[in-house]
Amino acid sequence: MNDRGALARAFLCQQIELGMPDIILLPGSRAAAACMLPAKRPERTPTPAVRTPKTLPPAAKAGEKPRLLPVSRLMAAPEKRPAVADDPMRNALVALYSAEKDCAACGLSAQRKTFVFGSGNVHAPLMIVGEAPGAEEDAQGVPFVGAAGELLTAMLGAIGLDRKKDVFIANVLKCRPPANRTPEAGEIAACKRILTAQINIMRPRVFLLLGRIAAHALLDTADSIASLRKEVRSVNGVPAFATYHPAAMLRNPEYKRPAWEDMQKLRTFLTELGAYAATN
Ligand code: SF4
Repeated sequence: MNDRGALARAFLCQQIELGMPDIILLPGSRAAAACMLPAKRPERTPTPAVRTPKTLPPAAKAGEKPRLLPVSRLMAAPEKRPAVADDPMRNALVALYSAEKDCAACGLSAQRKTFVFGSGNVHAPLMIVGEAPGAEEDAQGVPFVGAAGELLTAMLGAIGLDRKKDVFIANVLKCRPPANRTPEAGEIAACKRILTAQINIMRPRVFLLLGRIAAHALLDTADSIASLRKEVRSVNGVPAFATYHPAAMLRNPEYKRPAWEDMQKLRTFLTELGAYAATN
């Protein structure tokens, strides 16, 4: 099967993994021939045709949900990391969290239940940046835990990344805008310093920017995601991929295919960079 056929098969398999509506292919069409998927949804989830590179960890098992913890607890859990006292990066992040968790630099602090700092592996080579907490995130103190979070977890799993172990996830805003409205320019300007401080401490090797707000905040551009996703940009010299926000994908299913292609490009880039070789 050629590359286009492999990609198409992987895409369709991922749609099934993600629980998307059935995809109907006309018998005899080139897509059907390339994918060779059964007409009915299979009882077991098929394995995507794109092989997991050796340098990336294996994809999450179907149905496996990672246990998500607020960053304050993650940082307190040593796991295989050095003791907190011996980990300057973790200590610096804990200090930043402590200094900013009661921030009132913009009006969003008034309705905040939780200051959503971020979650994941603070030493991860890939940092994912989204827009702002929603209702679930505000309640739990963890970014990307609602339906959009489940989609992001599945997207990462499809390229062999575990959201708890292999990435760090943060938002541009740390507090929820009322009714999940679009963040205002003043709120972004007030809050960006916290994200900048996180980046300066963690120094990720690659960024994945989810949606227009994150991309515009870090890339200092007004270009559309449709334009930004066509090339690898840079955040202060660090390669940055931009793609659609999972919440936008849930509202507009036509974004899922280009987002899947973006994730494949990201995986190729991470593999060629050897970003995960040292963690396996
Ligand atoms: S959104 Fe950011 S700047 Fe505004 S109060 Fe929350 S932490 Fe502070």
